[in-house]
Amino acid sequence: MSCPAVNVPVTVWIVRKTDQTEPARDAAEIPGLLADANKILWQNGLTLVQSGTVHYADNDAWLNPSNTTPAAVYEFDALMDSSSGTGGVELYFVQTITGEKGGLKGVKRIKGIAIAQDGDASTIAHEVLHACGLDDIYPQITIFPQGTKVSIPDVCAPEMLPSDWCGGYHEPGLMQKFVVARLIMSPGGYGNVPLPRAVIPSGKVWGYRDASTTGDPSSELELRNVGLSGCHQNPVSE
Ligand SMILES: [Zn+2]
Repeated sequence: MSCPAVNVPVTVWIVRKTDQTEPARDAAEIPGLLADANKILWQNGLTLVQSGTVHYADNDAWLNPSNTTPAAVYEFDALMDSSSGTGGVELYFVQTITGEKGGLKGVKRIKGIAIAQDGDASTIAHEVLHACGLDDIYPQITIFPQGTKVSIPDVCAPEMLPSDWCGGYHEPGLMQKFVVARLIMSPGGYGNVPLPRAVIPSGKVWGYRDASTTGDPSSELELRNVGLSGCHQNPVSE
């Protein structure tokens, strides 16, 4: 499988306090972050190319955005209206992000992608791939209210994958849960996996839909849209 090479314009915003101090990210880090994200995104033919210089958004209310209340969402949207209609991706670097299930390293929204201070190049690639149509996949699920953790059953990848994307890249006998943990669309990885998560497989992969459930965990196992077959090349922030 091959895909055409596509350059994606990226508009970069760094949030600071209203008095223009305490930038959420050092501007000098941006070229390296984009270069490292591109090492992952090249699997889909994408290259992030920064448009112009870094912009600063100076507003205390935007440093720690949240998705949890209507007022917070309003502010989040206001931050992400700093640019619109760029025809590419808008990246907003902030201090922290709070989602409905707690802190997030990054989040892809209709109006742009936010990256927290603990987010890195993998986070950027992961969120850009959400904007290309891909979903999350988890190798392990937490069952509430007890908080018990259950992993994908101990099977090897070739038994469970309808589209054969192993192709010799992963060693024979590698358990499915470890294969899933290497995928860039796996938000947290799994245990002591030796490789950083970076892989975009060719097709769908069997794994958990969510990080947690209150019901039968097996009902959360399904083929997840995490591969090139479900990935377009036109990530655009409104
Ligand atoms: Zn995700």
